[in-house]
Amino acid sequence: MIVWEGLAYRYARGPLLRFPDLQLPDGGLLLLRGASGSGKSTLLALLAALLTPAEGRLDVDGVAVHSLGPRERDAWRARHVGVLPQRLHLSDSLSVLDNLALVGWAAAERSMDREALLAALDQLGVAEVAGRRPHELSGGQAQRVALARALLRGPRLVIADEPTASLDDDAAQTVLSLLQGMTQARGATLVVATHDRRVMDTLAAASPVELCL
Ligand code: ADP
Ligand code: MG
Repeated sequence: MIVWEGLAYRYARGPLLRFPDLQLPDGGLLLLRGASGSGKSTLLALLAALLTPAEGRLDVDGVAVHSLGPRERDAWRARHVGVLPQRLHLSDSLSVLDNLALVGWAAAERSMDREALLAALDQLGVAEVAGRRPHELSGGQAQRVALARALLRGPRLVIADEPTASLDDDAAQTVLSLLQGMTQARGATLVVATHDRRVMDTLAAASPVELCL
């Protein structure tokens, strides 16, 4: 269960951004809507403990995320949250497979076994690009690699920021089905921020909770 209450954030010299309260059950789907600049990415960053709220509380599966210290936050995120960021942050000096392996290194674990990484890519239909550099991928392939990376450690919470922004209709459909299907199969909670009509239409069948900022 994810619960937040009185959540607010202020960028340096910016106004206080306030977010409506919400409760989201385990395995739930939240569609976060709102015009550009309404605070969608900021709320996602708060949910992923990438930012600390100025006010309010955020409770994820019994953990008071708002009161974690910086190191605890990083450890909590690495363990529990899969982030599909708006910009993919794939390193172009590494192969696709090594980009995935970075997840293990970042979490200070033993390096992840190549077979498991390949299996993760294969599940998303992109095993054949494992040896390529990110700039050699189509937008849809890059998004699927980023999704494989987000799901690698079996997160209970998956956060996607405008996952279809740069994709054509076919690629958008594929990525959305994979995103929704794979989080649902794992019983993970999914939060998707978007102002893309196609996302709302596609995810409507899954009866999402909707929050409009
Ligand atoms: P959205 O994702 O809905 O487009 P954002 O969460 O990115 O909205 O931004 C919300 C508001 O915060 C906007 O007014 C934006 O200009 C402002 N903002 C976002 N990031 C920063 C930042 N790093 N510094 C100052 N203001 C920011
Ligand atoms: Mg945004």
